[in-house]
Amino acid sequence: MDFQVSARKWRPQKFSELIGQEHIVRTLSNAIEMNRVSHAFLFSGTRGVGKTTMARILARVLNCEKGPTVDPCGACSLCEEITAGNCIDVQEIDGASNNGVAEVRDLIDNVQYATSSARYKVYIIDEVHMLSKSAFNALLKTLEEPPPRVIFIFATTELIKIPETILSRCQCFEFKPLSNAQITKQLELICGQEGIQIDEKGLVEISKIGAGSMRDAQSLLDQVIAYSGKKVDTDSVEAVLGIVGGTTLELFAESLIKREPSELIALVQDVANQGKDLGLFCRSVMEYLRNLLMVKVSRNPETLLNTHTCNLEVLKKQAEGFHADELQQMFTILSRAETEMKRSSLAQMVFEMAILRLTETRPFKKIDDLIHKINQAEGEIQPAQPVASPPQSDAPPAKSQPIVQPDNGSFDPSIWAKVRQEVSRKRPPFEHYLDKCQVLALNEKEIQLMFSDSFTLDMVGTPENIQFIKDMVQSASGHEVQVILKLGEARPTPPANEQKKKTINDENQGRQKTESEIIQDALDIFGGTVVK
Ligand SMILES: [Zn+2]
Repeated sequence: MDFQVSARKWRPQKFSELIGQEHIVRTLSNAIEMNRVSHAFLFSGTRGVGKTTMARILARVLNCEKGPTVDPCGACSLCEEITAGNCIDVQEIDGASNNGVAEVRDLIDNVQYATSSARYKVYIIDEVHMLSKSAFNALLKTLEEPPPRVIFIFATTELIKIPETILSRCQCFEFKPLSNAQITKQLELICGQEGIQIDEKGLVEISKIGAGSMRDAQSLLDQVIAYSGKKVDTDSVEAVLGIVGGTTLELFAESLIKREPSELIALVQDVANQGKDLGLFCRSVMEYLRNLLMVKVSRNPETLLNTHTCNLEVLKKQAEGFHADELQQMFTILSRAETEMKRSSLAQMVFEMAILRLTETRPFKKIDDLIHKINQAEGEIQPAQPVASPPQSDAPPAKSQPIVQPDNGSFDPSIWAKVRQEVSRKRPPFEHYLDKCQVLALNEKEIQLMFSDSFTLDMVGTPENIQFIKDMVQSASGHEVQVILKLGEARPTPPANEQKKKTINDENQGRQKTESEIIQDALDIFGGTVVK
């Protein structure tokens, strides 16, 4: 069967055909109408949300023979050439494979020549974050003094990797992930025009798995149609996409209400044995918990749920088996598991461990009870204690609380940097707990970490995790320390790199310290020796 939903066939050709990103369309349209077009744009956002599509439309808008116009004709030779991708003045460059300084120099040489037929020369550089540092530098001068009628459009999925010097010379637009409703609507339109019979539920399922990416959703639709032809039923959507059906989710929730770990694990194994995708199953369970919560907190949950994909009566009944805050805790546990599963080669085990944690969640106690309990607790979890901010911070102390120096309150950033390095080497997922904490003290006797929420504190406070922190500090500093966790208003201590940079700058006025010097610093402070 020769059917392709294919991104190319259904790629929007003008602003009015674009799905979503209205904020960007409006700004760009105004700029065109007022003839105030920037010479450099940066489009950022996750994959498949329309960045390069927008760039191509902009090229057409600027160069249409009837334009510049927000409504390019689509019929003139320039419109046609740009659509076909063979307009000599509109160049699309893949930043990933042309990331060196030589390629950028070639491009810059080329920039100087006049256009051959179009009004503007447009350079669309996709995945621009892949350019090397020197390639970015080579671009800078051209961006500062661009030749007239040359426009750069950069697209990236990783905004964070774009140098500040480039950002400040571009008009930046952040593309939002598309909503399920937007994707569903577009798929519906495509199916209608292609004569595909598929019910709303199937389309919603495909949209959900597309997770904000129109391109992904369209390629999933391709797969489903390839499997079942022009008549698509929900079963074949679930079969092709590896989705776990609603009944399984209902069973899962039943077992969760009973806090029955063996049933839950058996269910997961069953799902895995059917060859279904456990990452998707995890997301489906998260959505189910979310739906249970909506039913719990809203008088009109119908408006908050997609009634095509869930059974309201069952949800209402099951919701009675949970506290609202338990559902939130469970959601958080699965949300972390989902991230970790993507990085782990043992995804099923990660998921199973998370599920066991689900069965251990309990409703939060009232805050007074909690504080009382923490105050009473002995051992590693000690009472919250307001303390002075660590040396690198200039923030005022927490409101209406006196400034108190922690008992052994010295904080050594270079050791913290080492600890973070160790953690990222040994157990990367643990880093996100450390990202959330403030280091109150780190010295030869103890490490004091403060967390803003009791949930994270509980997660970190398990005996295994306490031991892990001890081990990490020991391998960074050579000292066996006591681990003290606190609850309070934490201002997260920056991760290793910044911390290290700061120490280096403070102490050495810009000279880079070598790793061995940092270790030597540690030895000076702790009076230890290096042991292999
Ligand atoms: Zn045209």
